[in-house]
Amino acid sequence: MRAIPREVVVLVLLLVALGFVAVVIGVNFGWFWVLGPLASYAMLRWLIASLRVLVTDARHLDDDAADPRPVGPDERTLFWCEECGTEVLLLVRGTSRAPSHCGQRMHERTEILS
Ligand SMILES: [Zn+2]
Repeated sequence: MRAIPREVVVLVLLLVALGFVAVVIGVNFGWFWVLGPLASYAMLRWLIASLRVLVTDARHLDDDAADPRPVGPDERTLFWCEECGTEVLLLVRGTSRAPSHCGQRMHERTEILS
């Protein structure tokens, strides 16, 4: 039988003590003193995670945009927005990623001209 790691025991005891303190504060001074900091902490974590996603989402654009090259004369590429119908003609391809419009990725349509 394996022994429970010491860190887990310390963490559980700490959580039990924090729970006891939270109940004492909530009963005596009102539960908003307990729930307010918890909600603030949750919102702060959510905000930081959202900003981190923005940074990591744009990071690969640096790798991808190494050599922008003009679209060849035998090819015509359009990006169109499914939401509003906007069409964009591609002149220089910077990345392989489609541009965004109306909050979503545009669809690519490539016509091969002969
Ligand atoms: Zn649109």
